[in-house]
Amino acid sequence: MKIRKNDTVLVIAGKDKGKKGKVRFAYPKNDRVLVEGINFIKRHTRAVRQIRQAGIIERETPIHVSDVMLLCSKCNHPTRVGFRFLEDGKKVRICRVCHEVID
Ligand SMILES: [Zn+2]
Repeated sequence: MKIRKNDTVLVIAGKDKGKKGKVRFAYPKNDRVLVEGINFIKRHTRAVRQIRQAGIIERETPIHVSDVMLLCSKCNHPTRVGFRFLEDGKKVRICRVCHEVID
């Protein structure tokens, strides 16, 4: 997947459009990422044998990778991700703006 854990991303669609955040988890199987501070939902919960507090909790939910762009750690621009093979055959991600290797 093009976006990985600990990447900083810019949200480009949805209610959090324009916000930035760090990827806390990546879910390659369903092309989703959990981004810090992005896509909070309110959920009503009931107390379960006093383990959980009753009330409304807010938590982040994963968003689709197509709704975010990677913020390049080298040039700080939101970018699409390209790939390049190194001489040893290793596949690395590159920034399409500054062409630097991101990994
Ligand atoms: Zn860059």
